[in-house]
Amino acid sequence: MTTVLVPERILDTRHRQIVNGKAVVVEDGRIKGVAARADAPDGAAVIDLPDHTLLPGLIDCHTHLIGQIDNGQGYAQLVTRSAAQEVLEGVRHAAEMLDCGFTTVRDVGTFRAFADVALREAIDTGWVKGPRMQCAGAYVTSPGGAGDITGLAVDTDQIVPPDLRFGVVSGVDQTRATVRQILGRGANLIKVIATGAPQTLGTNPASPELTADEIRAAVEIATEHGVHVAAHAHGADSVKRAVRAGARSIEHGSLLDNEAIDLMSQAGTYLVADLYNAEWIASEGSKLGYAPEVLKKNELVADAQRESFSRCVAAGVRIAFGSDCGMFPHRYAGRQFAHYVKNGLSPTQAILSATLWAAELMGWEDRIGSIEPGFYADLVAVHGDPTEDIAVLESVDFVMKGGKVVKGR
Ligand SMILES: [Zn+2]
Repeated sequence: MTTVLVPERILDTRHRQIVNGKAVVVEDGRIKGVAARADAPDGAAVIDLPDHTLLPGLIDCHTHLIGQIDNGQGYAQLVTRSAAQEVLEGVRHAAEMLDCGFTTVRDVGTFRAFADVALREAIDTGWVKGPRMQCAGAYVTSPGGAGDITGLAVDTDQIVPPDLRFGVVSGVDQTRATVRQILGRGANLIKVIATGAPQTLGTNPASPELTADEIRAAVEIATEHGVHVAAHAHGADSVKRAVRAGARSIEHGSLLDNEAIDLMSQAGTYLVADLYNAEWIASEGSKLGYAPEVLKKNELVADAQRESFSRCVAAGVRIAFGSDCGMFPHRYAGRQFAHYVKNGLSPTQAILSATLWAAELMGWEDRIGSIEPGFYADLVAVHGDPTEDIAVLESVDFVMKGGKVVKGR
């Protein structure tokens, strides 16, 4: 089965240029090539996309598909929801992401351990509509840390079921054993929670929560299994620990100093910064009944995070797109693009962060992030030219995943 897509223009992410007057030929779920429009093979299905730019399917490197949208009231209430409820929310969120043009996500954590792996398998089998996924399985976090269930009274703490605390570790030996368990149960990457978080009650984003030895142990075992470590880290000290230990990406990176930025730049560590998330909490949080503690911590990191991002861009730190959707509704993930541009990336660079550069972070640069022969036919089209007006990526009209049209004509 051959399909030919005929847009107004194509964004060639590999060569950072707009190509006019060409068509993309798709066969058996893969891109066969970019050809002259007149060269469409006989009998091929033709999809006309006038006035549209065709670009590679978008990649979000920091999502939380499982579970209901964070309501800013802490995670103790997760004991009132079953794993089944959390997974079914994930099914809906997966479809929403795909509809917004995100054909691949790196899902960086669920409190209900391995619900993400179940969702990934259902998508890959074709039972459920959603993006390609890499999953973290569970948070590797300290007791009482930002990936633990906090906020319960000490005499009710024992009611937390084990799958909500699968990745809680203390010390190097337990870290090694737990990382092995997480990978053995199907995770594609390891997410370590190196500092506190605005949304986790009782934790401080500036404070370290894992020791340098614990982070090193996680990286050691992950590397032996051929996967990478994503480190949630706001405070500079923990960012440095994670970079020195060999984490592939820093998530958030809100409170960076010059030394941290230099280290990231030298090591080639990716920054995955969720700029829009903080703005959304600032504008919607109090209306939605967020806990005052969460609002206060969000305020503390928001300006600093924007500034850290701009300084990283200026220092040449690698950037990969990460929205942190799940903290806000998934259908708004594309709003992040405009905030990257507002804080230092060009529109083309912002698109690269969600295509070519994101694929490199995930180790999938041989199959997604670019329109070239042999790559998955994951393609999206937007009205207008996103390299001139980045906001058009907030409303994607056409989505193809693996050669199948999932949205649009
Ligand atoms: Zn997150």
